[in-house]
Amino acid sequence: MMKKDTHPLYPEATIECACGSVVHTYSTKGSFKVDICGACHPFYTGKVKVVNATGRVEKFNKKYAAAKEAAAKEAAAKETPENA
Ligand SMILES: [Zn+2]
Repeated sequence: MMKKDTHPLYPEATIECACGSVVHTYSTKGSFKVDICGACHPFYTGKVKVVNATGRVEKFNKKYAAAKEAAAKEAAAKETPENA
């Protein structure tokens, strides 16, 4: 006999992507929506596609550019021969 109340609620759920793809699964979170999925991500499709549901792409690019710049500065600083 299985113990009762040991399992969380794990109902059937649908994960809906911005591209229209819907995945039927089970989730403790219930149904939710995503901006990108395996069906529309450029990595899987091999196509360059701008996915911009909520400006997240721009936010990421800005963040990434800033991080890249910081890394470049750091690398340049390291390459400077201070004790030459
Ligand atoms: Zn998708």
